[in-house]
Amino acid sequence: QVPFGRRMPCDIYWHGVSFHDKNIFSGQVNKFPGMAETVRKITLSRAMKIMKDLFPLEYDFYPRSWILPDELSLFESEFHKTKDSDPSWKPTFIVKPDGGCQGDGIYLIKDPGDIRLTGSTQSRPAVVQEYICEPLLVDNLKFDIRLYVLLKSLEPLEIYIAKDGLSRFCTEPYQEPTLKNLHQVFMHLTNYSLNIHSGNFIHSDSASTGSKRTFSSILCRLSSEGVDVKKLWSDIISLVIKTIIALMPELKVYYQSDIPAGKPGPTCFQILGFDILLMESLKPMLMEVNANPSMRIEHEQELSPGVFEYVPSPVDEEVKVAVIRDTLRLMDPRKKKKKDTHLIFPHLHGVLIFFPPSYHVMYDIEKKGMKDKQHKHHSLKLSLKLKFYLKLGSYQSLKQAPEVSEELLDTPKGPEAALPSLCLRQVFPKYAKYFCHLLLVDKVAALFIHFLGIKGTTKLGPTGFRTFIRNCRLSNSSFSMASVDILYIDITRRWNSMSIDKESGMCLQAFVEAFFSLARRRYKLLPLHEQVLSLIELCENRLAALPGKRLLWGCG
Ligand code: ADP
Repeated sequence: QVPFGRRMPCDIYWHGVSFHDKNIFSGQVNKFPGMAETVRKITLSRAMKIMKDLFPLEYDFYPRSWILPDELSLFESEFHKTKDSDPSWKPTFIVKPDGGCQGDGIYLIKDPGDIRLTGSTQSRPAVVQEYICEPLLVDNLKFDIRLYVLLKSLEPLEIYIAKDGLSRFCTEPYQEPTLKNLHQVFMHLTNYSLNIHSGNFIHSDSASTGSKRTFSSILCRLSSEGVDVKKLWSDIISLVIKTIIALMPELKVYYQSDIPAGKPGPTCFQILGFDILLMESLKPMLMEVNANPSMRIEHEQELSPGVFEYVPSPVDEEVKVAVIRDTLRLMDPRKKKKKDTHLIFPHLHGVLIFFPPSYHVMYDIEKKGMKDKQHKHHSLKLSLKLKFYLKLGSYQSLKQAPEVSEELLDTPKGPEAALPSLCLRQVFPKYAKYFCHLLLVDKVAALFIHFLGIKGTTKLGPTGFRTFIRNCRLSNSSFSMASVDILYIDITRRWNSMSIDKESGMCLQAFVEAFFSLARRRYKLLPLHEQVLSLIELCENRLAALPGKRLLWGCG
């Protein structure tokens, strides 16, 4: 804990909530710049919508969503259109405030007229989403899955998924939504933070009973009922990879802005919490991505009304300790350095943990002020477990190896072999060949970043946009530079009116919209993803053919 700032360089910096220290010039930080913004409900919905427009069949794991208030009339008109064509259609929608968490401000509706647009929470921007009415039930209860995913690197993309996660249960038997039960949060919302307050919440030290269980215990049960759990896992892996592919372009824009290429800076990694709901058909659906998942390994117990104490939660511990331990193993700077230079390396400088008082991670290296004895003992146990690993790093120097690959991690040698086997499994680049065709917006983002010009910004100015059009030779007699300016102004103005960020210029999503419109105009007859791919190829070829690949920055 370094509440008053950092005094010495570190190999790994552990920030509590988000990437916030721009004075780190080396080592690795456990947060990506802009991650918290990128996974907010509205930004996630927009990123998913773009991917769904390009690849409708591949991005069918995110419920259809509309952004409020901007898309309220679109939502209403689409609702009435479907209702008119099928009067028996009786859908339910869920309204979720942007930036909310723990079920805060969420409510269900049957009709667009029921959206609450006034009131402190209700007037906040929100997402309205198709409600999944037929979730898979276990013991007659709705549950969701919290899976931990390590984004180890953005460039090149490296993703790991934890073999086990948590299943969080509702505390009232599930019924399909009706006007009568719409408001019953213990029936419809799986949030632990809500259900803990239900009289029916069951704390259990066993992984396979109670209101919070391990996901592996659910898989065991499903497998014994004949479910193809291998297929289920492969669908989940695919959902995770596709979601990160959708978020990646925006993250890269933030990254180059905070950590410009070529300048000294840290590299980043991050543990993400994916919330997934299984439909009755066993299809996994993404609910949300959490940039700062709770790593708490205790649960609250109500001693008397309103008086809570924290007691160890073996289920949380089983899943979360393994995730933190493996993350540190994978991010071990000796492995990175070994990979880079094939030399024997000096000791680990240390791991700095930054977290604000409200943050409840329990990997406390210097825990102070613990009141509860049991809690203290438990935290100490975990602390020692992690210390044990860090200590190994401090005296062990690995021998030179001809090539260090992730294989090393699968077959640890020396003192590391004493640790339990890895729970984090690499899924990308391992399965890259099945997903590379989806990296279209990523290529559009590369063009955007190329033309951003001055480092440190996330928005493209009018000159940068004109230079893009000119360098890629996209204007012609039927699309003059005056039309280019109108396109820029129209799209930028609309996006900026929807954003709270007051920095002027064209954001990535606005550029993507402009790019798609240019692609449609030029390659009329193709499906959208082919139009976009064709325009990307054209732009890349034209940029490559520029004399000395020199860009004509803003030349008249
Ligand atoms: P929060 O960040 O507030 O937890 P979520 O998007 O995770 O918001 O939603 C909270 C809970 O509501 C989820 O855990 C899930 O149980 C339920 N939920 C959210 N979206 C849907 C949906 N489209 N269909 C069915 N249930 C949903």
